Amino acid sequence: MTFTKPAIQSFMPETRTLMGPGPSDVPKRILDAMARPTLGHLDPDFVGMMDEVKQLLQYAFQTKNELTMAVSAPGSAGMEMCFVNLVEPGDKVIVCQNGVFGGRMKENVERCGGTAIMVQDDWGKPVDLNKVKEALDQNKDAKIVAFVHAETSTGARSDAKAIVALAHEYGCLTIVDAVTSLGGSELKVDEWNIDAIYSGSQKCLSCTPGLSPVSFSNQALEVIKNRKTKVQSWFLDLNLVMGYWGSNQKRSYHHTAPINALYGLHEALVILLEEGIEHAWERHYQNHLKLKEGLEALGLDFFVEEQYRLPQLNAITLNEGLDDAALRTKLLRNYGIEIGGGLGVMTGKIWRIGLMGHSSRQENIDKLIGALKDTL
Ligand SMILES: *Cc1c(COP(=O)(O)O)cnc(C)c1O
Repeated sequence: MTFTKPAIQSFMPETRTLMGPGPSDVPKRILDAMARPTLGHLDPDFVGMMDEVKQLLQYAFQTKNELTMAVSAPGSAGMEMCFVNLVEPGDKVIVCQNGVFGGRMKENVERCGGTAIMVQDDWGKPVDLNKVKEALDQNKDAKIVAFVHAETSTGARSDAKAIVALAHEYGCLTIVDAVTSLGGSELKVDEWNIDAIYSGSQKCLSCTPGLSPVSFSNQALEVIKNRKTKVQSWFLDLNLVMGYWGSNQKRSYHHTAPINALYGLHEALVILLEEGIEHAWERHYQNHLKLKEGLEALGLDFFVEEQYRLPQLNAITLNEGLDDAALRTKLLRNYGIEIGGGLGVMTGKIWRIGLMGHSSRQENIDKLIGALKDTL
């Protein structure tokens, strides 16, 4: 049998302006870092760089947690790592849902053999503390409270500090989704006593997709070490991954780290370090205010109440009669700008305009507002 060679040449993408729910614009500095020579994954120089990535992530998460690292897979794998390591068959987990990602947490709990007690809030609203308290009162045997800090599907921010404090009053551990909040709005893992947290490289860190920063407290680690059952996932079992990312022991082969992707994350975190995390949070906020002014001048309204809005993810209510898909295609084809449509039940109802990481700058705001003025 003969195969005809397909007529395919190198892929040469255009440069876009990425203003959706992630990935965000990747600075050239990060792309350049990723083009540096590939080292062996047990090369002492590379091992040294991995140690720096750990320290840089500790800074980004504002934590001293020893178990802080990047999972070699996207944010969804960081989510899964938290659940498969902390949830054992029969465990009860209170899952707060106010958008798409809380629903994925439920899936994770159930696939681990646990029971998910759902606390539902309307999409676009933050997690309601009173409902969480009610669920905790009715489920004194719950082991974990899980919630999304920054709901990317709606643009709403929940009060992570208060939810974690409440969960701890009831002796529960906490799993926090910080995929969209890390680097974009205030997040303090140690001060807020978060037990397990995961994020992604491609949102407010402005790195390429495919890595998931995670961090686990000592309390969480104790629970993992004392599991009665084996973690069902070999790849995500922290007991094994620790031998690879742990600092005090000799590095042992677990999987081959995505070397060049980690150069990129290292550079992204150095950029964050240079800016200073508080400055990064403030920049995201100030640019959100500028975007808001421009959007409101065009007669567009925000979907989320002002006090709960995420500066890095601006959800805009679509007026009746606006052709969602056609307009977004126009923005992409005529201006090279990508914005996000609604996800799940929000499809056709909102637009999601991301001002994440390197995308959060004046130039992008001007470009988008100008393009919207011409297009609407
Ligand atoms: C993007 C996102 C994820 C998933 O991350 P991937 O890198 O796409 O796997 C999870 N949670 C939230 C809140 C997100 O915004």
